[in-house]
Amino acid sequence: MSNDVSLGSQNRIDAATIIPGRGGPLQSASCIFDTRILWVGSTSDLPEQYRHLEAHNVETLMPGLWDAHVHYFGARRISIDEIYRTPPAAAGARIAEDLRATLDAGYTSVRELGGWGYQIKDAVNEGTILGPSIYSSVAPISMTAGHGDAHNTPLPVVKAAIESYGLPLYICDGVDECIKAVRQQLRRGAACIKVLASGGCTSLLDDPEHRQFSDDELRAMVAEAERSERIVSAHCHGKAGIMAALKAGCKTIEHGTYLDEECLALMKSLNATLNPTRNFFSAGLLTRSLWSAPSYAKLQHAAATHLSAYKLAIRSGVKIALGTDLGVSGSIPDLEPENATVFSHGSNARELVLAVQAGMTPLEAIEASTINSCETLGPQAPKKGLVDVGWDADLLGVVGGDVTRDIEVVTRAANVRCIWKAGRVVKENGRLIR
Ligand SMILES: [Zn+2]
Repeated sequence: MSNDVSLGSQNRIDAATIIPGRGGPLQSASCIFDTRILWVGSTSDLPEQYRHLEAHNVETLMPGLWDAHVHYFGARRISIDEIYRTPPAAAGARIAEDLRATLDAGYTSVRELGGWGYQIKDAVNEGTILGPSIYSSVAPISMTAGHGDAHNTPLPVVKAAIESYGLPLYICDGVDECIKAVRQQLRRGAACIKVLASGGCTSLLDDPEHRQFSDDELRAMVAEAERSERIVSAHCHGKAGIMAALKAGCKTIEHGTYLDEECLALMKSLNATLNPTRNFFSAGLLTRSLWSAPSYAKLQHAAATHLSAYKLAIRSGVKIALGTDLGVSGSIPDLEPENATVFSHGSNARELVLAVQAGMTPLEAIEASTINSCETLGPQAPKKGLVDVGWDADLLGVVGGDVTRDIEVVTRAANVRCIWKAGRVVKENGRLIR
């Protein structure tokens, strides 16, 4: 372990290329930081006061990546019922490995849209386990019979599990219960609120094209979240759910499977963000054994539309963030990195490759998976996602090729040679360290 880059002291990285996150790359550039970034620019312009600092040399310096849609449920099959059945201690033990793999892949932050991250984040922050900074919605909020309900389990059993041990799922109906649902997530430390505004694939009986929750219920949840400066993220596949969520004030649309030009125009006018979660579809289709038969059939139907909707969204210029939905999807087995865990935590950066395949440039994919993803937290967004003065020094030193031309470079954890989190080295020479 090296102590040369420690909390509070000033550090210098010289890079052949700095990718700032938003804007064009800098060549032959330097970055000076303590816990935050103090200076960025051409090495030839480095101020006198920093010239004595010993430089750490990297090929490419870029912001730590964000996964804007991930789950740490610790389950081992893709079903909502399985999440209800998994003992929390077993889930926690598995999640420790999932978090380690996520960080190793260069992900220094995640927006968790449902999962145990809200409880385990303290263990990360205190240094007991290695992982990204976690910003969690706690539970995805579902209506009865909705996407977050366990349709094969008696409803009182489901509700008792939520009440008795803090299972990160929630069911409510009617305006009053919806308001209480948001307050319950705030009480458990939610950084944003996630509502399930359409049916989904991982649940059994609901239809991804049907909308869920009434207009009044959605509006009540958004208003309650806004009072505490939390944005509301809406899971929606079908167009009806997308339109209803946007009109109610939801700021990010997760999946967007059946969106069309009318949806995109509304999103742009409201400055909403699309989080297409392409990995959920592309990887899900290749991991049939993890799915129940009805869920897999729904996935196949949705996947047939999703890619064309994603391409349409990129062409429209709507703001896009990148999340994988790992935790409820597998990854592509042939492309699985060595360090990936069950459900492929650690393969998160495949999402950037999928974004480029759908029409983004590598730099656009990086912007989507750094600053755009950070901004999906709205007023709660930390300063993590840019290599720029005043931002947290969450940084990656990447080797193995020109990231601005070949986004595949960042998908190999071994190429992410160094990682700094708030200025502290957590990976050096390709190995995670404490
Ligand atoms: Zn999800």
